[in-house]
Amino acid sequence: MTEPQARNESPPENLNLWHAFLDQLEDIQQIISSETLEHLRHPKRMVTVSVPARMDDGSVRFYTGYRVQHSISRGPSKGGIRYRAGLNLDEIRGLAAAMTIKCAVMNLPFGGAKGGINLDPKTLSRSEIERLTRRYTSELVDLIGPDKDIPAPDTGTNEQVMAWIMDTYSQNRGSTVTGVVTGKPVALGGSLGRVEAAGRGIAYTIFGVASRENIPLEKASAAIQGFGTVGRYAALGLFERGVRIVAVSDSSGAIYAHDGFDVPALLEHKLATGSIQGFRNAKRIDQESLLTLPVDILIPAVREGAIHAGNASKIEAQIIAEGANHAITRAADTILEREGRFIIPDYLANSGGVTVSYYEWVQDFNNLYWTEDEIRSNLEQHINHALESVYAVKNQHNVNLRQAAFILAVSRINESTNLRGLYP
Ligand code: GLU
Repeated sequence: MTEPQARNESPPENLNLWHAFLDQLEDIQQIISSETLEHLRHPKRMVTVSVPARMDDGSVRFYTGYRVQHSISRGPSKGGIRYRAGLNLDEIRGLAAAMTIKCAVMNLPFGGAKGGINLDPKTLSRSEIERLTRRYTSELVDLIGPDKDIPAPDTGTNEQVMAWIMDTYSQNRGSTVTGVVTGKPVALGGSLGRVEAAGRGIAYTIFGVASRENIPLEKASAAIQGFGTVGRYAALGLFERGVRIVAVSDSSGAIYAHDGFDVPALLEHKLATGSIQGFRNAKRIDQESLLTLPVDILIPAVREGAIHAGNASKIEAQIIAEGANHAITRAADTILEREGRFIIPDYLANSGGVTVSYYEWVQDFNNLYWTEDEIRSNLEQHINHALESVYAVKNQHNVNLRQAAFILAVSRINESTNLRGLYP
């Protein structure tokens, strides 16, 4: 298979996630014929809704909300809800398509979806966000459901937002339906270990890949861009198995410590002060230089396009695991491969979140709940199982991990689509 050419790409802040997905389809066309990819180019349902909400001062403001159900070939559609200023339909449909692929790589009985509202949650009060969430949910009440489409947290949303969605849906249905969302508080049918799942999953994936590639990690060091839900638990998962976490960042900036941070203490400091700044023995460094440190592992876990044509050649890490979806642009991918870096793509690296969402959904159906240890060990096994299947495809077609994961997912989706046939 030929490598995609590094092309002139738009600045990362203008990255079009739907076009990025279409590019990924193009990259596997020599292995999977273009016609069989056609259904993935056509999301099943795309909904745009107007979300009016009363502000605390009595005024009414209108926001725009989206939900895209990209595919239901393998089961109900599944994917997060994000609240982010500047959100648009292409971002949501690109991410919905990515969920279709991610769920298929992990062999979960789900299709893919994504949704959200174009708003900056930091500018609104808790009660304004609650009213917006409830109105947005009631606009979608006939489209979501435990056997139809199951939302979860994403950028700018959390357990509390899921609780409001669950309650609004349940009030409309006349009974409590816990399985309509995942990533809920444990007290409402959420799963133990769900909050940390995406981050810990990154660590499990790194260990799984390193052992298959014979990359020793005993004395390894790591830099992590982002200390939100994903970055902080990735740091903890690596730290617990002996990796030195030498740099982390959050919105306040980046910090560095040559001997590595005591990650549990850093987590406590972040919880207590709201920031990573001021932590003992930490030296301030600038955000961009975190990416180019001479470390073994780099995890960009903030946003898409963090590694782009402009900074890719300066990256020194041997393994780069995409904590955030599309953290590496297509042009950067080509540069990093040329430089011999090893990339663990988002579809594998951050799949722990949706995998534990699946466990939550199963637990809600059965009203039987698992222990934290069960969740963690099932997740690690699940990820290793997925890696086995991805490596079989990688070796068969002699492609990289991103293409292998994509080919595996598309073959599984195609199989379901073909068995179901075309209605009518
Ligand atoms: N938002 C997360 C993701 O992008 C989780 C989705 C889910 O659990 O449904 O993978």
